[in-house]
Amino acid sequence: MSLAEQLDPAADATETFESTDPATGAVVGVFPVHDAAAVREAVERGRGAAQRWAALGFDGRRQRLAAFRGHLARELHGLADLVHRENGKPHADAVLEITLAIDHLAWAGAHARRALGPRRVRAGVLAANHAAYLEYQPLGVVGVIGPWNYPVFTPMGSIAYALAAGNAVVFKPSEYTPAVGTWLAAAWRTAVPDAADVLQVVTGFGGTGAALCRAGVGKLAFTGSAPTGRKVMAACAETLTPVLMELGGKDAMIVDDDADVAAAADAAVWGAMSNAGQTCIGIERVYVTAPVYDRFVAEVGERVRDLRPGSDDGAAYGPMTMPSQADVVRRHLDDATSAGARTLTGGTVQGVFVPPTVLLDVPEESAAVREETFGPTLTITRVADAEEALERTNATSYGLAGAVFSRSRARAMDLARRMRSGMTSVNSVLTFAGVPSLPFGGVGESGFGRIHGEDGLKEFTRAKAITRQRFPLPVDLMSFSRPPAAADALARVMRLVHGRHR
Ligand code: NDP
Repeated sequence: MSLAEQLDPAADATETFESTDPATGAVVGVFPVHDAAAVREAVERGRGAAQRWAALGFDGRRQRLAAFRGHLARELHGLADLVHRENGKPHADAVLEITLAIDHLAWAGAHARRALGPRRVRAGVLAANHAAYLEYQPLGVVGVIGPWNYPVFTPMGSIAYALAAGNAVVFKPSEYTPAVGTWLAAAWRTAVPDAADVLQVVTGFGGTGAALCRAGVGKLAFTGSAPTGRKVMAACAETLTPVLMELGGKDAMIVDDDADVAAAADAAVWGAMSNAGQTCIGIERVYVTAPVYDRFVAEVGERVRDLRPGSDDGAAYGPMTMPSQADVVRRHLDDATSAGARTLTGGTVQGVFVPPTVLLDVPEESAAVREETFGPTLTITRVADAEEALERTNATSYGLAGAVFSRSRARAMDLARRMRSGMTSVNSVLTFAGVPSLPFGGVGESGFGRIHGEDGLKEFTRAKAITRQRFPLPVDLMSFSRPPAAADALARVMRLVHGRHR
């Protein structure tokens, strides 16, 4: 299918919507608004596809997932161009995003059998005459609702692992990035024609997502903001559909006395400004200990001086993908400056291009420190020591990720462990997202459940337990024919085995 055909799947639809290039307003594609009936149809189609997909087994699925990633790798620049046009990020960042998704696909396909396949487990003393088996079975059809900020990597974090675990997927991309979602489903159909309905896309607005929640899927994997997450959970609760919630964050970096300050500054600027700050695991706050504070601020200032948003090849990052997000950024900046914050750089929001903005002395209770800003902004706060930094880092309702910079391995690992977040990187930022064997997800308002890694595979399965009696025992404790003395004999055995523990 040509790109033009893929991007005009709405030819016969009654209601349609356009997606546009956030930098220029040019139309990228026209898409159908799938209503509840159309969503249910997709899920029903997915049910049959899921059964055939599960029957292929781990090897059959691995081969087909490999064909899919091969296709993505061959078409990488074409997809990156589409991501650039629809989301606004630089082409090179789109390439990086797709590369990460391909790597996760490879890992999920290669490790599904080991993580999920049937295995024999110890039956224990009370069932010593039985064999015990554990396996992780697919859920059927998984619904995936994704955001616009990483329109390939983020949904693929659910899609790749759900598919590798043996499920079919119905994916609802954000209304801001339907072309990328539609492209992914078309790529799947091309690469895996004998299982074409295993990955389907439905497009539209919030109502289409809500219909997916109510369409009888085996699980709903949601990535987006906490307020929408609550609505998704409420809709799923109607049918007791389980949910996975990958929500926002207010991630912090801790810079300790002994940190490599230049490296920390470089990482903070990338973590905060890349993708125009529209990164769930982006760094939004930095807590720097007093001895290195001035040096850190100077290093950050030097690095952001030459950063420029734009849509051309030389731009460091693109526009705000969702125009209304610029209003949130403006509100946070106004709130911070009226509360006494100093602006090191930037600070003005005009249109969709927001300059890199670094704020100093921001009161902890202001919106710029407490709420997710989701823009190219950074607050830098001086603290007495790393303990105070950790305390402030953890004083948030979010808990997605974070970073620690320290040359002491023991100190950094200790801080990382005590950081209330699902993921922490030491002496780098965001690294965990590119390690397929590590789980990805948050705590608190950042959500629950995990994508990526073995936990991400298991997230899209149900554990199945089976026992098989190998031989009967002379005395069956779970029978009305057991002799009266059996309970005494059992108590004696328990005393022998466990009674010595005090
Ligand atoms: P939203 O919460 O606005 O939307 C997420 C998705 O939900 C979109 O596809 C949206 O559709 C859909 N949706 C909206 N209303 C409903 C509804 N009532 N029922 C079902 N679905 C609905 O998030 P954004 O797209 O703005 O994404 C940004 C947010 O995502 C940030 O908070 C960010 O931190 C978070 N995020 C979290 C990640 C993680 O892994 N933890 C990764 C990436 C982002 P539509 O667009 O059509 O309204």
